Amino acid sequence: MNNNKINLAIVGVGKIVRDQHLPSIEKNTNFQLIATASRNASVEGVASYKDIESMLDAVPELDAIALCMPPQYRYDAAKLALERGLHVLLEKPPGATVSEVEQLVELADKQSVSLYATWHSRHGAAVEKAKAALSNRTIQSVTLAWKEDVRKWHPGQDWIWQAGGLGVFDPGINGLSILTRLLPEPAFVTQATLSFPENKAAPIAADISLTTANGITVESQYDWRQEGDEVWDISFVTEKGDVEITHGGGALRVDGVAVELPKHSEHGEYEAIYARFAEIISQGQSDVDLQPLKLVADAFLLGDRKVLEPFLD
Ligand code: NAP
Repeated sequence: MNNNKINLAIVGVGKIVRDQHLPSIEKNTNFQLIATASRNASVEGVASYKDIESMLDAVPELDAIALCMPPQYRYDAAKLALERGLHVLLEKPPGATVSEVEQLVELADKQSVSLYATWHSRHGAAVEKAKAALSNRTIQSVTLAWKEDVRKWHPGQDWIWQAGGLGVFDPGINGLSILTRLLPEPAFVTQATLSFPENKAAPIAADISLTTANGITVESQYDWRQEGDEVWDISFVTEKGDVEITHGGGALRVDGVAVELPKHSEHGEYEAIYARFAEIISQGQSDVDLQPLKLVADAFLLGDRKVLEPFLD
């Protein structure tokens, strides 16, 4: 650390880095961005390298790294960074498999550095308010709908359709990250149907049924063929009335009445992520919750597969 700031690097400078990471790091006085590693992109005024190995060799003063490339290509970079004693932030989803991330957790522990598996949607303005609203209610059942137009949200992202890219669960796992934060006990998959276009290795739509040990049932639907407005909603039916999250965690209704939420900036979720990263580094902790990834993995394990006509994006 220099001037008590955490020297940070980013790997994989793409859409989410430009939209969210850069402005959020800029606002956080705990971090200074001193390097990037990206094959085809760089950040103005910041030392840039083509790959992580050459960056780590050239910039020994690094303390922490944010891995923002697609999940299929993250494990080797995370392992290398942890072996070099760096704190590591993983974009969501934290990896391509559950077991590889579990190995990273062990390695971070052995190296006494912090590993942070981020779930940006958990920092939506409605989420902790919903948690509070649900704390004195009994949840009976839940519905979750995560529907958006893939052509609008993921143009040109070939990796998202490839094995390990998660397909419709790339956004859908955001809904599951909120759900698992708000349920009072873990859920597991009881039934799933995954719909794959004939020409793609990842699903374009899915239905997953879940339950908990005490019988809270969750019916969830994910669809990338949505036209018009996005639907990113979760509705909890309780004995006193409904608690409904909409806009991906940005709005809340309790018993049909809109709840006033603290005004978030457009980078609020990622500002909270960097605040949390600084916090766990200072506390010498890791923060890795694999529940959302496990549910997606189990849907792939248990799910029936439907093959649809080719999808041209
Ligand atoms: P992206 O722009 O397609 O990819 C990010 C960067 O990763 C690319 O620009 C590329 O940089 C690098 N990359 C791509 N393929 C690679 C490969 N095979 N090996 C190594 N590096 C590769 O994707 P993104 O939208 O930023 O998403 C990245 C991650 O952030 C995903 O896990 C996604 O779920 C998450 N995320 C995205 C959003 C969003 O709105 N887009 C929101 C929240 C979270 P170079 O070619 O320069 O190496």
